[in-house]
Amino acid sequence: MKSSIPASFRCSCSRSTLQSVGGRSRRHASTSSSASSTANAPTPSRKARWLAIAFVSVAAASGGAYVRAQSPKSSELNPETFTKYCLVSREPVSPSSSLFTLRPKYPSDSNYDIYEEAWRAGVWSVMFKQPQLQIGREYTPLPTTAATGLSVDEENEGYLRFFIRKDPFGEVSRYLHTLNTGADIELRGPKIECAIPEETRKILFIAGGTGIAPALQAGYSLLNRTTSTNRPQIHIVWASRLRADCLGGVSDTLNATTQVSASGSWFSGWFGSSSNAVHDGVDTRVSSPQEPSLIVRELEALKSQYPGQVTVDYYLDEENRFIGKQDLAQFIKPVGGGEDQDIHNLILVSGPEGFISYMAGPKVWAQGTELQGPLRGIIKELNPKGWAVWKL
Ligand SMILES: Cc1cc2nc3c(=O)[nH]c(=O)nc-3n(C[C@H](O)[C@H](O)[C@H](O)COP(=O)(O)OP(=O)(O)OC[C@H]3O[C@@H](n4cnc5c(N)ncnc54)[C@H](O)[C@@H]3O)c2cc1C
Repeated sequence: MKSSIPASFRCSCSRSTLQSVGGRSRRHASTSSSASSTANAPTPSRKARWLAIAFVSVAAASGGAYVRAQSPKSSELNPETFTKYCLVSREPVSPSSSLFTLRPKYPSDSNYDIYEEAWRAGVWSVMFKQPQLQIGREYTPLPTTAATGLSVDEENEGYLRFFIRKDPFGEVSRYLHTLNTGADIELRGPKIECAIPEETRKILFIAGGTGIAPALQAGYSLLNRTTSTNRPQIHIVWASRLRADCLGGVSDTLNATTQVSASGSWFSGWFGSSSNAVHDGVDTRVSSPQEPSLIVRELEALKSQYPGQVTVDYYLDEENRFIGKQDLAQFIKPVGGGEDQDIHNLILVSGPEGFISYMAGPKVWAQGTELQGPLRGIIKELNPKGWAVWKL
């Protein structure tokens, strides 16, 4: 497979001037069988499901935020005005990416609740301001895990962490990588990118590059709903350009999925496998005697916290391992059991523009709003009946 990951994130959604991003854009969920969000008018029942997902998004995105927006205090994160944060640390993860830790410049008791509301909803982002150019870009807070997260005090103080790739030609990511500890950074948000419906039981998350940050969020939000009767599951497929980003990552299912195609069992291939990391004779470990990368540690922490509910497969451009149609075919099997299934089973795709296009077709702009656009790409070719597909 040709590498579909371009040299940089170039999401048009992220190319925002501060003047032009006043309101929240409403995102549409593409269900698997709707070939085009514009060409195919939904049937009443399909429309109802579509509306259910859209409603959850809109309600989660706007409900609490609206109340807060009535009187945002300058010290509290809100979607209308920028709030000052301080850069606590910037640690390199790989030659092209870093972990940014920020804390609110002025203490506010309400930040914790504001974040919590967003975590419960699903995948969310905040906008960072580049003050010289007056432009903003969205970045995805990393969840806190027991193994690698923040201390309780730091959490209570409203610290946030971000995994940010430096685009050598990018205005905001390059600017952020010039900042020193103690620098001010202004943030606006939260913005709910995808509210995960309460009914969701399985997520297949296809991530490219820093698209892994929303995957961690989705995992955190979904698995937090675990009870004795509800054990949701997430499988993350992550393509990285550099070994350093996913150092120490061991794929869970690559070998098992090749076996499972013979047995035809989608489910056992996904969650019934061990950490055997040999795929068609190729060692799929991103092996190194060094410490696993930050993101791999985060993923491992999620796995330990929710045993049997999380699996991850790693693909690495540097080693010519790319996510192909066959790899996804193991997981995207048509789901039976009625029309409502596509709220239970979610495919999320996140990453650079070209990555999303290759996987699920491009997002589109209409009348100043970013829409999901028709489902295309290799996911469409796999006919994911019974799955909702959402491009982040
Ligand atoms: C919801 C969301 C969450 C995100 N979360 C993260 C995250 O957690 N971590 C992360 O690293 N990124 C994330 N991103 C991406 C991020 O918002 C930025 O898009 C990214 O950092 C690049 O921004 P930039 O300003 O540095 O680059 P830009 O200045 O936007 O440039 C990006 C690239 O486009 C090229 N370019 C610019 N203008 C043109 C043009 N006119 N024609 C052709 N090419 C052009 C540039 O050369 C560069 O290579 C997220 C994006 C979204 C939408």
